[in-house]
Amino acid sequence: MSKVKSAIFTLDLEDHVGRYDTSSRYPSISRQVLQTLAQNGIVGTVFVVGKIAKAEPALLREISDLGHELACHSLDHTPLDKQAPAAFREDTARAKHLIENCIGKAVVGFRAPVFSLTKSTLWAVDVLAELGFQYSSSVMPTHNPLYGFPQAPTKPFLWKNGLVEIPCPVGKLGPITLPYLGGFYLRYLPQILVRSLITQADPESCLWTYCHPYDFDTAEPFNRIQGAPLWTSILLWFNRRDTLPKILAVVRENSSSTLRGWVEANSACLPRYLP
Ligand SMILES: [Zn+2]
Repeated sequence: MSKVKSAIFTLDLEDHVGRYDTSSRYPSISRQVLQTLAQNGIVGTVFVVGKIAKAEPALLREISDLGHELACHSLDHTPLDKQAPAAFREDTARAKHLIENCIGKAVVGFRAPVFSLTKSTLWAVDVLAELGFQYSSSVMPTHNPLYGFPQAPTKPFLWKNGLVEIPCPVGKLGPITLPYLGGFYLRYLPQILVRSLITQADPESCLWTYCHPYDFDTAEPFNRIQGAPLWTSILLWFNRRDTLPKILAVVRENSSSTLRGWVEANSACLPRYLP
């Protein structure tokens, strides 16, 4: 019997205070979600903003003890194009060190804030390899209002220096290319459509969900996001109740994979991409 395709669970662990102007609830939400996954035999990869290692060290240790991989999501969530290479190097080295010190394990994965690894920030690839990262999960290989890299391959590949890139999974919906495994899309797309896109995915792709603690925060009161249109604020706030069951349906069959585990099993046969 052929194996049913499923996705690896990934979470971007960052505070949503400021964006929503509410009290900080991400530690308890993240705990609840990651415990539930572990109880269902699922571990995944948690990309942590370095400053959280200082603010919530016990949370990181708990996550690591549950069996999830901890990876780096920058020091303070500054997109790559908002930093000079030297400052990025210094901040990212610090973030990696903070997380490693906290959990006592090596951190080998990196995800750029808001998928800000694009054609104009390729200098970051060498910095990441020099800092000892083995893989990056930082490219959105389609057009995007913020940071798309439509020329990049949609399947995992090696950068020139050997760093593995695992791009954000995208699927075709008519003429539109969608990062359909993001928390926002999982909350709104019909499950039958998500399942169909997973089934159609190239066997050489690496599928992963990406969520944020707020995707699961059903108790958060509605807040208008500063500077965003009203409809965006409503869409980001609404439809959170079913996020966890939807995630469980998508990742269920892939019970013990992390992105690190995927890289260790597959990096030897990845193609090289020379932009
Ligand atoms: Zn983020």
